[in-house]
Amino acid sequence: MSSLYADVLWQPVLDAVQEAKQIHIIAHVNPDADTIGSQLAVYHALKSMGKCVFMHNRDVAPYICRYLPAVHEISHGEIPNEIASSDLVIAVDAGSMGRLGVDLAYFEDKKLLNIDHHASNTLYGDINVVDARYCATGAMIYDLLQYLHVPLNPASAAAIYAAVLTDTASFRLASVSADVHRMTADLIDAGADVALAAQSIYQSHKPARFELLKYALDSLEIRHDGRTAWISVAHDLYEKTDLCGEDSEGFIDYARSIEGVDVAIFIREEKSQEWKISFRAKAPCDVGVVAEKLGGGGHQYAAGCTLFGSLDKVQEDINDALVDILNP
Ligand code: 5GP
Ligand code: MN
Repeated sequence: MSSLYADVLWQPVLDAVQEAKQIHIIAHVNPDADTIGSQLAVYHALKSMGKCVFMHNRDVAPYICRYLPAVHEISHGEIPNEIASSDLVIAVDAGSMGRLGVDLAYFEDKKLLNIDHHASNTLYGDINVVDARYCATGAMIYDLLQYLHVPLNPASAAAIYAAVLTDTASFRLASVSADVHRMTADLIDAGADVALAAQSIYQSHKPARFELLKYALDSLEIRHDGRTAWISVAHDLYEKTDLCGEDSEGFIDYARSIEGVDVAIFIREEKSQEWKISFRAKAPCDVGVVAEKLGGGGHQYAAGCTLFGSLDKVQEDINDALVDILNP
């Protein structure tokens, strides 16, 4: 086993963990498998070091993560007093403070440690370990565990595998190096079940998802001489199919998979006139820049933001922000 990047400064993390009496590990809002997998892997490691640790997020973990050991120990909603008395909060995979979905006052009497791989990270922690070279925050945790001298076990290996598998779009992005595959080999050696992960993440969707997908594909529009593909789903369609945002995870990949499309855009109405936008790009386009312009963030190939107003207005705003990267 060797670390992906040997020059990352992990010592402040070790110091903070050693000093802490009680630790709250937190994922970002609308959590994905990278933030949940990272949260679980840190949890397993700190538990094995004998630390008092809790996991709590604003939102429930997505159903694709249900197979991960200890996922049911993650609480969500209002932060219970027992957890609020923690003296260290570890945020994983959250590019900005707002992504934690917690009142700023919560952090006043606590040390905040920010571990993340988003280039757009605002360095909001008291300690920041932010490194955009990593393909996933889960891959950072793989290196952290080695620094902490905590061996992988089947639970932490499964959690990191889920994080890396999903954040690399199943090992399809340019962020996947030979070292990433060597790490993956270690995860499998340590007990990550590849077939279970594939089945749980990619083959466990509700039949109603495909009703929603029909509507989504019906909205597909190709613009900019074939360079952009747009899909939108209005709130009433989620109501009609009795589904929510997590059920349309991956719809954007249909748009990205079209020949000649450089940028895919998925627009879903979270509630009336509030739209969650996802961007996916193929090289050389950088959608992180587009999302940042619109008040969100992310990476070169995957980014997002929230916009308000009518669908037409939102599409216009996105169109304006896209111009620069389409015509550099
Ligand atoms: P997704 O499209 O899967 O929701 O998000 C893609 C990427 O963009 C993820 O890395 C996610 O963290 C980031 N992202 C999505 N929405 C937002 C947002 O509203 N603000 C920020 N800062 N990042 C976002
Ligand atoms: Mn991530």
